[in-house]
Amino acid sequence: METRTIGSLEVSTVGLGCNNFGARIDAARAAEVVHAALDAGVTLFDTADIYGATKSETFLGAALGSRRGEAVIATKFGGPIDEERKGASGAYVKRAAEDSLKRLGTDHIDLYQLHFPDQSVPIEETLGALDELVREGKVREIGSSNFSAALIEEADGVSRERGFARFVSVQNEYSLLNRTPERHALTACEKFGVAFIPYFPLASGVLTGKYQRGEVPPPQTRLANAPQERVERALSDRNFDVVEALEQWASDHGHPLLDLAMSWLLHRPVVASVIAGATRPEQVRANAEAASWKLTDAEVAEVDEITAPLMRKD
Ligand code: NAP
Repeated sequence: METRTIGSLEVSTVGLGCNNFGARIDAARAAEVVHAALDAGVTLFDTADIYGATKSETFLGAALGSRRGEAVIATKFGGPIDEERKGASGAYVKRAAEDSLKRLGTDHIDLYQLHFPDQSVPIEETLGALDELVREGKVREIGSSNFSAALIEEADGVSRERGFARFVSVQNEYSLLNRTPERHALTACEKFGVAFIPYFPLASGVLTGKYQRGEVPPPQTRLANAPQERVERALSDRNFDVVEALEQWASDHGHPLLDLAMSWLLHRPVVASVIAGATRPEQVRANAEAASWKLTDAEVAEVDEITAPLMRKD
């Protein structure tokens, strides 16, 4: 497995997203998925305090156990757990970190990410508290998530001005079916030396080819249990037009759609790791193998042309 860097952290180019833990899979299955990931060379594990109503961190920490040293743990704070536990105030940053450390059963978080911007708190206050966590050794690096290019720039400026630790990554939605970051965020990452971590890289599984036009989602899949409105959006004719064309293009080049979905993201050097989620060990093994296709610039241009109809105007 190849590696790239997020600040001072070295991470596998395929990571594991852990938002299914405690939500769709139990602790035993989560452990199987985590061990399959480690065995396949995956080192980056992305979770959040809110995933699985806080169970994801607990399941991940327990599953890693004595293999903690093989993993780079990325977690997040700021999403609402309840009325009290949410946001990005300095006091809450400290409390959230202590709670995550306990649930993860570790003495440090490798990458601590602000899950969502909190407009009610000056970013200086959040960064100041995060900086203290870094100085205390409880956190190695800090990152942001769901940040616009303007917020990436603002936070970077504040950190440089005040000498605080800086956000070394941003985690935003990005996939063949959602190329929004190409408008501004990726350019900001390149400019400020921030690693980009795409979430929903497989569009919740649509980019694995497991869903077929005109057919109900197979039982046990994520979309079989999702709200109707979400299913209709994910499985729209517009998406299928693109997915089917991508599948054909990948097949003409000797690869399944999954390889294209993973490898296309990694064509950009600023993308550090593709944190695909998984509910079964065989999925994580397949994802780990899917990222080694080195697409040429000309091939990427052809693929971009196929997905162009989905690019929304500003
Ligand atoms: P995803 O990676 O686009 O899709 C994951 C789903 O795809 C899995 O649950 C599984 O579906 C299916 N899948 C994965 N590998 C497969 C394979 N090889 N073959 C067939 N199906 C496969 O979406 P995600 O897991 O929601 O997102 C990835 C990670 O990004 C999350 O785990 C989380 O860590 C992060 N995230 C962050 C934010 C944020 O605001 N920062 C938001 C969302 C997600 P089934 O469940 O049907 O088996």
